[in-house]
Amino acid sequence: MKTETITLPGDVPGNAIELRVLRFEGGDANAPTAYLQSSLHGGELPGQAALHFLVPLLEKAKAEGRIAGDITIVPQANPIASNQWQAYQHLGRFELFTQTNFNRAFPLLPDFDTSGLLDIDAPVPLAERLKATLLRLALPHEIVLDLHCDDQSENYLYIHQDFLADMLDLAAALGSKAILSWDSTADAAFEEACAYPVLQLSADARDMKRRAVTTVEFRGLADVDFETGWSDAQGLYRFLVHRGVVRDDGETLSASFDGPVTPLSHVEMVRAPQGGMVLYHVVPGDEVREGDSLVTIVTRPGDASGDVTLTAPQTGRILTRRSLRYVRRGDDLLKLLGSRLSAVAKRPGALEA
Ligand SMILES: [Zn+2]
Repeated sequence: MKTETITLPGDVPGNAIELRVLRFEGGDANAPTAYLQSSLHGGELPGQAALHFLVPLLEKAKAEGRIAGDITIVPQANPIASNQWQAYQHLGRFELFTQTNFNRAFPLLPDFDTSGLLDIDAPVPLAERLKATLLRLALPHEIVLDLHCDDQSENYLYIHQDFLADMLDLAAALGSKAILSWDSTADAAFEEACAYPVLQLSADARDMKRRAVTTVEFRGLADVDFETGWSDAQGLYRFLVHRGVVRDDGETLSASFDGPVTPLSHVEMVRAPQGGMVLYHVVPGDEVREGDSLVTIVTRPGDASGDVTLTAPQTGRILTRRSLRYVRRGDDLLKLLGSRLSAVAKRPGALEA
């Protein structure tokens, strides 16, 4: 393994960030290549844990001459977000300077030529240069896995509908419980920017069987421990072997994915109509019927007449919920995977800000 450090100058004197890039060179020029990054929002540690335990597996494979395709790993993809702390709390989702979600507004390139992307010292803010740098690292690879996590959540994937049929093996390898399928590039998330040049190709030139582009939601923020990290690393390794990026005769993908595939338009985002204390009736993984109680918001503690109970707008499965029990009016509380158009389906783009 070769470790490369890319230093991006900060926006004011005396500041810089460092991207640590781990590279495994493949021995077979015809093998698919893979790029894995974690923590684009700075603090999603399940992906970091998975990569921490994946690297030794790849080092062993490298020592035994079993790395077929090039593999590039960026365990901490966003040092800006990693360092955003305020009043003892980590705040990595939005860049504090512009309030922009770090996983939005990536450049959408018409093809795989990255020569037009911003240089690391271009005269633009650091976040834009970081996005260009990550895209420049990722785009040469056919497999791009962007490892995130949700708040409290099941293990699930985002997959563009054109990639879906050829990516069920990833869901099987990772033990994913659900897939959210999407078809718009309205937000230009990292995954969208990596899929975009592929989608500009004609159908017969895409070679989808070699490709995989996804956002992996490795459960919730607090699901970080030895056992889970090791298990997720094995899932990633199994997928890389299954795709021929790594050779390992002892590894086979026997599981299959049997969870729901839900279009974003069928995901119910249940929001708080008022602020207050949240008492949940459900946990991620629960199956609910239309009308079942999901969550009660206590708006006036000591006065039950102020309680607001929200019910399931349709039958489905609870995918995620928010961990903070104190919410504001309009906050997202949970995601429910439905089987018909959701109440918010008319809103294009991402489910969340
Ligand atoms: Zn994230």
